[in-house]
Amino acid sequence: MNQQFLPLCRPAVDEQDIQAVVDVLRSGWITTGPKSAALEQQVKEYTHTEHVVSLSSASAGMHLVLLALGIGPGDEVITPSLTWVSTINLITLIGAKPVFVDVDADTLMTDAQLIEPLITPRTKAIIPVHYAGASLDLNALYALGEKYNLPIIEDAAHAMGCKYKGRPIGQTGTCLFSLHAIKNITTAEGGLLTTHDAALAERVRRLKFHGLGVDAFDRETQGRAPQAEVIEPGFKYNMPDICAVLALGQLSRIEQITNKRTLLAQHYRRQLQQLIGFTPLSVPTHPHTHCWHLLIVRVDQSKAGINRDELIAHLKVEGIGAGIHFKAAHTQKYYRENYDTKFGAITPNLVNTEFNSEQICSLPLFPEMEIEDVDRVISAIKTIVGQ
Ligand SMILES: *Cc1c(COP(=O)(O)O)cnc(C)c1O
Repeated sequence: MNQQFLPLCRPAVDEQDIQAVVDVLRSGWITTGPKSAALEQQVKEYTHTEHVVSLSSASAGMHLVLLALGIGPGDEVITPSLTWVSTINLITLIGAKPVFVDVDADTLMTDAQLIEPLITPRTKAIIPVHYAGASLDLNALYALGEKYNLPIIEDAAHAMGCKYKGRPIGQTGTCLFSLHAIKNITTAEGGLLTTHDAALAERVRRLKFHGLGVDAFDRETQGRAPQAEVIEPGFKYNMPDICAVLALGQLSRIEQITNKRTLLAQHYRRQLQQLIGFTPLSVPTHPHTHCWHLLIVRVDQSKAGINRDELIAHLKVEGIGAGIHFKAAHTQKYYRENYDTKFGAITPNLVNTEFNSEQICSLPLFPEMEIEDVDRVISAIKTIVGQ
């Protein structure tokens, strides 16, 4: 291998971000404090939402939101199987039942029409996913939520920088953003809840820190009041300041980050047209601004002469990283073995999910890449398949 390894992703961290982390380390306050408060404020302004809670991960936030909504044994939560498994794991761990909804064959997103027939009296929430950086059709989803009086929790792990009808994701309702290392802005590990629901935000804020009546960081005193009391048993899901500070700079550059991703994605999509058997996802037709979190291509073995897993293995030999977002949850061991028995005899009709779960491949896409790197990936694929 004579060229440098091209990873699937690299975080958009610059020298100023690194200096900002060093400053926090020297400041004497490294865990949840002024920087996580500043990040909450910055996200509030960016998303035009009323309440923002910083968390140790989006998964942690999902756990707390499910608990705060009072969801538990006997309840059903509708979510795609084609998502990151954390959502399905958490629904299962709190004793509720994940009800898998299929997705559109080409955008990989679910919608109100697919969800409505799955609603039962036991349904307690709907968790749709903004997929790959495109936006869900929120108007239709929120209309459905209103019709059945069901909360919508937007999984916005891919959607920082994405807009729906000109408004940043986060503005409409309750959202969970992930700041994991692969996401468009990152704190290495981290999550953000955005919501207009003051009671929900307060409950999550309390549950994320031992159930204490105050935050770890009191804005006046720079320290937790030692006499703070446990109001209810809580968890330890707070975001440290050495992490939070990393996102401050990235969020201020969000337009730049999104523009560069868009430029690269558009080049990929043009180049992919020359290849037989490699189909990128479709972009939804409702008005939105894509933030190109992932560049996903479907590998059709009958046309490409190679399957997805073989492609990933060959790309690795060529020094190129690739990934799968995602392998459907219901096809994974635990859910495969338990879906019918433990979760009731609903046979999921998940044709589009299963088809895509076998074919999708994520190609390298991150702001430090150049057009030449995209060309390198395309020519590597051409060599691999002999086109
Ligand atoms: C990354 C991701 C999550 C979980 O985010 P964490 O911050 O890692 O917990 C949830 N849903 C989707 C769709 C994701 O891609």
